[in-house]
Amino acid sequence: MSQSNAKRRKVEHRQSAVKVKQEVCDENDSDGDNDPCSAIRKSRSLIARSINEFNFNKKRVRVLSDESEVCEDCKSIIYWITRDARVEDNWSMLYAQRLSLKFNVPLYVCFCLVPKFLNATKRQYNFLLKGLQEVERDCHNLNIPFRLLIGEASQVLPLFAKQHDAGAIVTDFSPLRIKRDWIENLKVKLHKNIPICQVDAHNIVPCWVASPKLEYGARTIRKKIHDKLAEFLTHFPPVIRSPFECEIKSNNWDAALKSLQIDDETVDDVKWAVPGTEAGIRMLISFCNERLKDYASKRNNPNYNCLSNLSPWFHFGHLSVQRAILEVKKYSNKYKESVDAFIEEAIIRRELAENFCYYNDKYDSLEGAWDWAKITLKAHEKDKRPYIFSKEQLEKAQTLDPLWNAAQRQMLREGKMHGFLRMYWAKKILEWTKSPEEALEIAIFLNDKYNLDGRDPNGYVGCMWSICGVHDQGWAERPIFGKIRYMNYEGCKRKFDVSEFENKYKP
Ligand SMILES: Cc1cc2nc3c(=O)[nH]c(=O)nc-3n(C[C@H](O)[C@H](O)[C@H](O)COP(=O)(O)OP(=O)(O)OC[C@H]3O[C@@H](n4cnc5c(N)ncnc54)[C@H](O)[C@@H]3O)c2cc1C
Repeated sequence: MSQSNAKRRKVEHRQSAVKVKQEVCDENDSDGDNDPCSAIRKSRSLIARSINEFNFNKKRVRVLSDESEVCEDCKSIIYWITRDARVEDNWSMLYAQRLSLKFNVPLYVCFCLVPKFLNATKRQYNFLLKGLQEVERDCHNLNIPFRLLIGEASQVLPLFAKQHDAGAIVTDFSPLRIKRDWIENLKVKLHKNIPICQVDAHNIVPCWVASPKLEYGARTIRKKIHDKLAEFLTHFPPVIRSPFECEIKSNNWDAALKSLQIDDETVDDVKWAVPGTEAGIRMLISFCNERLKDYASKRNNPNYNCLSNLSPWFHFGHLSVQRAILEVKKYSNKYKESVDAFIEEAIIRRELAENFCYYNDKYDSLEGAWDWAKITLKAHEKDKRPYIFSKEQLEKAQTLDPLWNAAQRQMLREGKMHGFLRMYWAKKILEWTKSPEEALEIAIFLNDKYNLDGRDPNGYVGCMWSICGVHDQGWAERPIFGKIRYMNYEGCKRKFDVSEFENKYKP
């Protein structure tokens, strides 16, 4: 899969790209274009005319199959989306198009829809499917066929690849077990001469490049990531209109909806979060214009609307974190502290969570915790709990703590609990259930059932941080928690007006 462009052209291109890049960075929408999507589109076209003229960093790609050569006589390249459901600002899509142009064959984009996915509800499936409908539209506008295949990849992709005589399958990266299993299962069924290439289109620094090992905490990974940002935090070139003749047909979205097997039909859509890339970009621009200024100082106050609220779009890959960082960084002079704080959360903390799930198979169980935490939790396993609440009482927000209940109701109603309260919420579950194992199981269950951004490395690590001390340090020993960091109602009262929050989320 060596690059076909001549070296000289690459050097010339790199020089002009650096210059253009600077202009794009300085631009800050100063051309008066009020449509954020079209301003971003314009910025891409200033970087390069297409991926062919862009110096694609191949460290973002790794070959997962034994076969690594694309057959010269192939008739197509397939991009199988598993996580990054967007067309632009997507290194997987760009790499797939690069192969398609290099081998002079059409690119097919597909998604394999499974009827059950870690107990996802209508709320998450609808968000996913509406985002994919936008992918279909954007692909078709670029003369790229998009196919929604019903079934697990190992059942449907081998036939699809055969029908289109595919030369390679390009896919996204996720550290989660289920997605790794999909790839392993596909490898067994796919024709052995078709290479599978994985691109980390979710992280700015590819997970396997950021660190080759399980990191202990933010302090051990921070510098490793920052040192690599100059190389990886680049601008994106555009995906271009495909020059190949192909049949473009619409997918049957009603049939897709009918194929789902959802256990609990009561968890419905939320109004504030509109799925898709366009809505994600609008949310990003509103963050930059309205909320970013207070992000550093007020992000731990749940009464204050200053978070980016971008996690649903990040989670489903509708919006690239790299795009968000490029936009937010334009405000570095104006709001330096807030920009730095956002970079810490969206790059360092998020990519640390990816590192944890990638290098630790037990990322969602007590066994995956550090030894000191396992020992201290074991030592306090039998401590008397002040109250015990069942999973059902917790789910229905029926505890004796009005702040906890309000936070739970925020999640039930809006599909997103405030970040500060997520910590308090999970720690209280540890205090009110029979064992740390049960606490972790319930926290993950509720988090994933109701939050739009659930089933994410950030979620597993958030629960593991709160209940099992992952990426944290030991604190003064106390009942139930042992050395795990403790949070309580009085502490919350000192930080923000808890009654204001409780009133906002009344029963
Ligand atoms: C118990 C618990 C459960 C959590 N569950 C999830 C989850 O299911 N999905 C999820 O995406 N995040 C989860 N988080 C992390 C964090 O709370 C959310 O990412 C954040 O609240 C999302 O809102 P936002 O996009 O407005 O955040 P912002 O503060 O605007 O942050 C921007 C982005 O930075 C990243 N980020 C922020 N905080 C963290 C963090 N602590 N760890 C890792 N990345 C972070 C996220 O990608 C986030 O979208 C959880 C945290 C805890 C303590």
